[in-house]
Amino acid sequence: MQLQFLIDSVQRASGAMFMRDLKEDVLAFIYPSIAARTFHTFFCPPLRIVAFSSHGCILFDEVITKWRFVKLPPCQYVIETGPKVDYRPFVSTILNVAPDLPQEGALDASLRMDSLLFALLAEAVADIRRIREAHQGVVKSEVQRKKFEVWERGQIVSSAGFLLDFSRAWTLPSGAVRLSHEVLATEEPYLEELVAASVAGVPWRHNFPNACLRCGKPGSWRSILQPTPEALVENTWRYQRPENAVPLCHHCTETLEFLRREDLRFDLAWGLWGPRFEAFWEWHQASLERRLPEWDSCAHPLWPPEFGGGSWETGSGSLKVAEPRPPHGIVRDSRHEQAMRRVLFYKRFRGRQPGETHLQRLLDFQFEPSEGD
Ligand SMILES: [Zn+2]
Repeated sequence: MQLQFLIDSVQRASGAMFMRDLKEDVLAFIYPSIAARTFHTFFCPPLRIVAFSSHGCILFDEVITKWRFVKLPPCQYVIETGPKVDYRPFVSTILNVAPDLPQEGALDASLRMDSLLFALLAEAVADIRRIREAHQGVVKSEVQRKKFEVWERGQIVSSAGFLLDFSRAWTLPSGAVRLSHEVLATEEPYLEELVAASVAGVPWRHNFPNACLRCGKPGSWRSILQPTPEALVENTWRYQRPENAVPLCHHCTETLEFLRREDLRFDLAWGLWGPRFEAFWEWHQASLERRLPEWDSCAHPLWPPEFGGGSWETGSGSLKVAEPRPPHGIVRDSRHEQAMRRVLFYKRFRGRQPGETHLQRLLDFQFEPSEGD
């Protein structure tokens, strides 16, 4: 039988999660102040939750067997323990010891902290479950490379790392720990590119406007440069970036002979993406000629910092602008505009005249800035 004090917000937020059985353990959640609190029992074994006041008056006492949120009345101390454990002998110890414990993080274990950690854990566990399903038994590199996209593998290694960190302080099912170790060992040669792809190589095509640049009819995003056949799959995700694509309809693709005319393809992407296509192009050339400089791909997942400017608009490849987004706000000069016009007006239009409203709509399109998490 063991009494454990959980005094900082991270300890409190994780509580009994991932323990198979609390056995005789008593987890005591010590808060700096009285407040109504929301607990949850996701990933927890069946447990008893008891809330009491600073004087030891019991305000809530229930055995919770299902995964759910539990609203507690205003209280200062909370206990989690196995359903059958007699916690009462511990109450006086908690009351006596609690005021002397260091109060780390005056920040309360609020619902926000709770739900954020919960979301991370739920995601990490789901990723590891996918690994277990994909690999029968031992994790193998060739299965990993065949079954998952590069960005997914990046998210899986992040999840594995997160679960291993977590397992230092809390009990995780041993299968999850073993699989996490195996995934990290298997993916070790590719870690840098995988982690970069987990942010910068996520799919975007279905979220972007797809009106054809030239005529405005529904089209699809077509890639400009292609990786060489011998390129490692881990290094090909940048070719899927929006900076290497333009939206064109089937008809305009035919009319412009887009697939045969490399000059038109380059001009269109260069005109649309300006300095961002230039930076991508530079990465592409340097990678073909095996002269990429050493760079910190965690801070700059897309390309070395010297290839682009300092912001999204001027071609930065830094982490804070690494998520795919449409070409809104790109800094273009007259060269870029001429390049785009060369392509859009290269062939005469029959019937519908080229208008620039659909192009303008694409250039103006942006996602609503996301609100925190
Ligand atoms: Zn078109």
